[in-house]
Amino acid sequence: MPGLPAPGLSPMSAPYWRAAGERRLLIQRCGDCGTHRHPPTPACYACGSLAIDWDEVAGTGRVYSFVWTHRPVVEFFENLGVYNVAVIELGGTEGEPVRILSRVNGVDRDSLVVGLEVRVDFDPIDDEIALPVFVPLP
Ligand SMILES: [Zn+2]
Repeated sequence: MPGLPAPGLSPMSAPYWRAAGERRLLIQRCGDCGTHRHPPTPACYACGSLAIDWDEVAGTGRVYSFVWTHRPVVEFFENLGVYNVAVIELGGTEGEPVRILSRVNGVDRDSLVVGLEVRVDFDPIDDEIALPVFVPLP
């Protein structure tokens, strides 16, 4: 999506954004106990370890929550009209559920519902990074 505002990359978040640029969804995982966590943080909430791994996940999940936005807070989104912001709960992770704040493309007010099964897709931001978004499973 040309013109999509870029996130601020930090040493902690850069692997997530750069993998998305390669159309891969990486979720941070504890290097000691294996607990997944998102957004990326320096320490594991389960065991306190500072050992960080990254795990490429399948990127399938379900809509946990969503809202339709009528008044965008970022100027870029004004061109989208009314759009959704959704929380996606990923499948196949360890520990507390991993939830990603994103959006679901290819849905309307009737088809976007809590529990909708989705898979990850990627909206390129520039040549290096992309925004993980979601689309309904067929
Ligand atoms: Zn841990």
